[in-house]
Amino acid sequence: MKRDVGQTTRDLRRHNRTSVLTRLYLHGPASRFDLMRATGLSSATVSNVVTDLVADGLVAEAGLLDSDGGRPRTLLEVRPGYAQVVGVDIGETHVQVGLFDWTLDTLATATFPMDAGRPEPGVLAALVTAGIAEVTAKAAVDPAGLLGVGVGVPGAVLPGGLVHAPTLGWSGVPFGELLAPDVAAPLHLDNCARTLGQAEMWRGAGRGAERAIVALLAVGVGAAVATGSPGGVTSATSEWGHTVVEAGGAACRCGSHGCLEAYVGADAILEHYAGLAGVARPGPSGTEQRVADLVAAAAEPGPAARTVQRTAEYLGIGIANLINLLSPDRVILSGWVSAAMGPAMLPAVRDAMRRHTLDYMAGSTVVELGRLGQEAVALGAATLPVHELLTAGGK
Ligand SMILES: [Zn+2]
Repeated sequence: MKRDVGQTTRDLRRHNRTSVLTRLYLHGPASRFDLMRATGLSSATVSNVVTDLVADGLVAEAGLLDSDGGRPRTLLEVRPGYAQVVGVDIGETHVQVGLFDWTLDTLATATFPMDAGRPEPGVLAALVTAGIAEVTAKAAVDPAGLLGVGVGVPGAVLPGGLVHAPTLGWSGVPFGELLAPDVAAPLHLDNCARTLGQAEMWRGAGRGAERAIVALLAVGVGAAVATGSPGGVTSATSEWGHTVVEAGGAACRCGSHGCLEAYVGADAILEHYAGLAGVARPGPSGTEQRVADLVAAAAEPGPAARTVQRTAEYLGIGIANLINLLSPDRVILSGWVSAAMGPAMLPAVRDAMRRHTLDYMAGSTVVELGRLGQEAVALGAATLPVHELLTAGGK
């Protein structure tokens, strides 16, 4: 079969643009010479591609770099103002909508708390469209001009856009179809642990790691295995939260017993804490506030401190299992429970991890907290349209 020569040339041009743009996007300013070495492209090809990317507004010159003896080299960087993206975190306790420039700096956010229980998909879709209207208005950005809207859901997205999210009580919900009529920009849906993994690798604690596991700690517990490669980062999710850490243990909402999530998920932590002697009955405050109160109380010895210690122990066991299976060079704890409890429990998590991991493997794995803060999951969702732009060579 004969291939169309024009098609092949276009594929090659796109591939070259993707290589140069991805390198600049993920690793920051570089000279044409750096780009040549990093991509393996010829000097003439790099020059042509850079000229095109500058003309298209994706890349700009960023000053001069002195080089020993020779003439100074011009540095190039991606232009943040080229485009804006929206990322949506469909959480179990809130919906957060973030507006970012395409280099993922935050421009505006809107957060809507959600009642516990099983929200109607139509109600959530309305919150998302209200959030998009709010953040674009705050930043004076035309919603129709967005590069795209990425939506991270706490479940699996099947081909055709059907969402299976047991934590929301959704089975085969066509969430993309519900949103599409009210969203003017291209819409992308994916699992929130996978997109969070991508964001931590691009912009957070995963930068430079070869194989990182990004744990999403919330009411549900998930993990993404992210692999850095010269061409970018790929990540895949796992149902880590439903791996068993205690035979005949606590009942899990998946129907099994002794799952990790039944020990380190936010609801499980709070339920354990509320059952301890000397703990007052919880007031009407929401899950996130109750976790914050628990962390504050854990500063003193007592049931709160013991609960944090117990959570750290199970989390350390869960992480040790991941390390023994997959030998990552980095494990990153992300998600809102990690942001709230991580600083208080990290030393105990590391200690438990070391006791349950083979020595030679524990020594080559670093466990650390994510660096993306409260917007981590929304930021992860925002990587979806950006990833598509990079793959398409910026067209
Ligand atoms: Zn389970």
